[in-house]
Amino acid sequence: MLNIEHSYIDGRFVPTAGDEIVEIVNPASEAVIGRARLANREDVRRAIDAAARAQPTFARTSKSERIGMLERLQAAMLSHADALRESSILEYGGPFSRSQWVSTYAAECLGQAARTLEHYAFERPAGADGISTLRMEPVGVAGLFAPWNAAAGTMASKLAGALAAGCATVVKPSELSPWQAQVMAQAVDDAGLPRGVVNIVTGRGADAGAELSSHPAVAKLSFTGSTPTGKLIAQAGIDGLKRVSLALTGKSASLLLDDARLGVAVPLAVAAAFTNSGQACVAGTRLLVPRHRMAEVVARVQAAVAALRVGDPGDPATAVGPMVGRAHFERVQSYIHRGIQQGATLVVGGPGRPPGIERGWFVQPTVFADVRNDMTIAREEIFGPVLSILAVDDEDDAVSVANDSPYGLQAYVFSDDIAAARRIAARLQAGTVLINRVAPDLLAPFGGVKQSGLGREFGVMGMEAFLEPKTITVG
Ligand code: NAD
Repeated sequence: MLNIEHSYIDGRFVPTAGDEIVEIVNPASEAVIGRARLANREDVRRAIDAAARAQPTFARTSKSERIGMLERLQAAMLSHADALRESSILEYGGPFSRSQWVSTYAAECLGQAARTLEHYAFERPAGADGISTLRMEPVGVAGLFAPWNAAAGTMASKLAGALAAGCATVVKPSELSPWQAQVMAQAVDDAGLPRGVVNIVTGRGADAGAELSSHPAVAKLSFTGSTPTGKLIAQAGIDGLKRVSLALTGKSASLLLDDARLGVAVPLAVAAAFTNSGQACVAGTRLLVPRHRMAEVVARVQAAVAALRVGDPGDPATAVGPMVGRAHFERVQSYIHRGIQQGATLVVGGPGRPPGIERGWFVQPTVFADVRNDMTIAREEIFGPVLSILAVDDEDDAVSVANDSPYGLQAYVFSDDIAAARRIAARLQAGTVLINRVAPDLLAPFGGVKQSGLGREFGVMGMEAFLEPKTITVG
């Protein structure tokens, strides 16, 4: 039985002061597997104080010192990859393959930030006639907020940008991911970073999170989570004009073009929709299909989804694991009922647990056809294994339906004609468009447009999110 009693503050594990203890429940079995004491505002203030003390010295470190730190953290995370995978599987039910991927991706983010840093000029000429120099300086102490799904990946990608830039950090993982956060803290400790540069305090959003987003010593807020919470974070930071990056809710469209080979496109579209059991911001949950190909596509999607293995997320053969907990299971169920009530055609799946599964927060992988883009299941993020299929008349209609959403995180285009797919990609309102693939490019910027976010992570843009430009002009 796990017992998490410590926060990571000022380079050591210290007893958490908060008095709330939460149970860690394995969502596949509903068994209590541990307990964690949650950090309160006082813990967060101690963490911010430690980061503020570390900031001036950390800001003056050289590029090569920070590359060394990133590489040490990368190696430490890699050495904890098994624990990261296990905690993802047991704490939120992340399927084995996805949890395995995230466990090494976390380390990769840090290695890639080290490479970005190597080639980055912090000082460069600017303005007219060479009289001005632009210096890119660390913005200051950064508050990093992570959701529970694939928590290690989010924490690592934010740490990568912040540390490369020279910002000391306070990480606030979700109250639903204390174990994943604990493994990350162990890796940070093993990396032997300067004291106070990374602090990790797991607590509730309205308490620990609110303290971090409003504290005057915090200059930058980098948040990943839902759009409503992102707006609260931005509001909390406005008084201090904190710099804010938001990676938020998605309702991604997958566009299957006229010429797409269905044997290739349908498995990719299904993978995009059901990745991480649908508990993914980038899940491609609206599949847009040319009307004249609809019958064939629906038949293929039905067969592919009916064959998805649902069950023990620790089994490498499992495609869809449980939802993170009871409340989220019920939320997903309510969307399935709404889909039926609003007249969509149930193709496969439906309400309740999958046949033969009596325990655990498992949802049947569900597909609706005849979905209109004004139905709730097409407009709101369900964050579960539910795919909506919508008919479109032509490419213009596909673009207009795809863009008719408050969100714009990631879109997918499936076609053999890459030039046509690129033309469509240029018209889509999305931070990323993946053509004939579902895996992201970790060196390329990632983020959302419209209500899916503000700013970008990864690569140069990810680091510059933690930098402030200063112009020096000589007379
Ligand atoms: P959430 O918004 O409920 O919580 C995210 C984080 O914010 C948690 O650490 C939470 O404790 C904290 N928080 C909550 N209220 C707060 C407050 N008032 N002040 C400060 N912090 C607060 O999201 P979640 O349920 O943990 O995660 C799922 C959501 O995250 C989905 O909407 C998903 O699309 C989104 N997400 C987005 C991305 C992306 O890159 N765009 C990646 C993963 C998840």
